[in-house]
Formats: sequence, structure tokens, C-alpha cells
Amino acid sequence: MANYFDQHTFVYRDGEFLKAAEATTHLYGQTLHYGYGVFEGIRAYETIEGATKIFKAVEHFDRLKRSAQLLNLPYTWTTAQLIDASYEVLRRNGHKEAYIRPLVYAPANMGFNPNEYSHIVIETWPMQPFLGEKLVSVFLSSFQRPNPKGFRIEAKACGHYVNSILASYEAKAQGFDEALLCDMDGYVAEAPGANIFLEKNGGLVTPTLGNILPGITRATVIELANTMNIKVEEKLVTTEDLFAADSAFFCGTAAEVIGIASVNKNPFPKPWNESLGAKIQEAYKDLVRENFSNNKYLVKDKLEALQ
Ligand code: PMP
Repeated sequence: MANYFDQHTFVYRDGEFLKAAEATTHLYGQTLHYGYGVFEGIRAYETIEGATKIFKAVEHFDRLKRSAQLLNLPYTWTTAQLIDASYEVLRRNGHKEAYIRPLVYAPANMGFNPNEYSHIVIETWPMQPFLGEKLVSVFLSSFQRPNPKGFRIEAKACGHYVNSILASYEAKAQGFDEALLCDMDGYVAEAPGANIFLEKNGGLVTPTLGNILPGITRATVIELANTMNIKVEEKLVTTEDLFAADSAFFCGTAAEVIGIASVNKNPFPKPWNESLGAKIQEAYKDLVRENFSNNKYLVKDKLEALQ
């Protein structure tokens, strides 16, 4: 098991900074029992100038609020306040680069009726790219993504991740690095914790919004591609499209941009370092670390405009 905290680690909770080792919670709530809570996954990077910057902080905390609203969880914080709190947790933990995990969770209430208030906790810990740095082998899951008519699929809700864990476990048990799930209509949707892009005939294709989490990295990739004059098509993606693609990659805050070697052992024909994904990957690395002047693909002002 990874060590997420030690006796020196701080978390933010409900307006206070306290020691992770001393932060306790009750065992009688809808988040723990029913998965009724929302969270975010954010990264802070050390920029080329040596500052710690939370990447797309506003977008992430705005999504946290939207997720809470979609689930009718009371939400009383402002984005600015939570960004400040996150920087303070990073500072107290001495983290120049880290993964940031805010979680909105329910007070004691074991019924299905709404709550009068919510709790919030913000944790930080160092985290390497979630899927590693090598191309990943992917298994087309036997699990589908949750049906949007049964869940608020646009919300980053705790309970949705039962589906992610089942799919990830299934893929790994068979020796693959990661799963790829289709939606309930059989269209390619997303990985357990990342969105997917395919390269075809010199352009990018990605599943349209509706049955997937609207990834902030996905939006960033689309912005980068637009800036790099790479065509992006958002559409319903079939498994035929997937197997006919020239190359493919996953993207997400935790995974960043990571190339896919194969799906169900069928390799993509285009070598990764010649793919559009490799260019996007490099541009993404420059963007998150604010490496505006030395980047290969984007001129300074174009990259700066994407911050
Ligand atoms: N899909 C799922 C199911 C996820 O959990 C994540 C990670 N939050 C993503 C996509 C990628 O989203 P983002 O780029 O906002 O991290």
C-alpha cells in the first residue's frame, strides 16, 4: 500500500488545516455506505520558473461544484476559497508537485433523504503518472460505463468508481495495463479514469460528451490540437473505429497524456513517436510546467493563451 501521509501531513477540512493522522470521521454516512459524494483529481506542477502552479484550478473546482449540484449535495464554498486552501495544503506539506484530492462527503445520515450540509476535505500527495510513462496495453472491458439514465454521468461521483475499479481489476487480472469501456449502446466511452483519443488520417477523433466524464485534460487536448492546427472530431466512436485507428492515447489529470500500444493485443500501426499523440503529449508537458519559450510545437503566445 502506498503511503499517502505520515504524522507531518496536513489536510484541509471544513475551514481548518489539521494533521491527516488526527483527522477522523464518523462511520454513519451516505458517502462511505452508498458512494454518495463527489471529488476531484487535480495536479500541481513546478513551473519552469520554480513556482508551484495548480493546473486548471478554476476548471476543477468549478466541476466539483457542478458535481455536487448534480447530486443535490449542499455546497457552500467558493472556487477561490478552495484554490487558496489547496495552495496552503501544498505549502504545509512541502509539495512542489502533487496530486490534489478534494472530496465532498456527507454528514451522519443513513437514510436516503437529503443532508443539510456537507463536509469537504482536501488532501495532497506526490503522484507519478497514473498509468506509467510507457505505452499501455489495453483490454476492451466486459463492463459498460454507467447508464446516464441511472446516474449523473457528468458528475465526478464517488459511487461511479465502483465501475472503474471493476473494469480496471478485470483488465489487470488478465495481464493488461488498463481497461477501455464502452457505453450502454456499445460505443467507445472512456477508461476507468481517463478519456481517449484516436488518430485517423491525420486528425483526432474522440467520443462525444454525453456518456463520459467531461475531462478537463480532454478539453485541454482539444485546445492544444486547435492551436496546433490538428483537426478534432467529437463523435460516437465505434469499436470498428477503434481497431481501424492509426494510433491512440488516453488523457486525464492523473494519467496526463499516455500512448496506447494495443487494444486486446492488436497493436496500432503508427509508431508512437510519429503520432499526433506524441506531439500533444509534449505540448501538454510544456503547458503544465509553463515552458512557454522552449517548446517545440507551439509558439510562446499561443501556449500562454491556453493557461
Ligand atoms: N474519465 C474518468 C472516468 C475519470 O475518472 C477521469 C479523471 N478525472 C477522466 C475521464 C479524465 O478527467 P480529467 O482530465 O478532468 O482528469
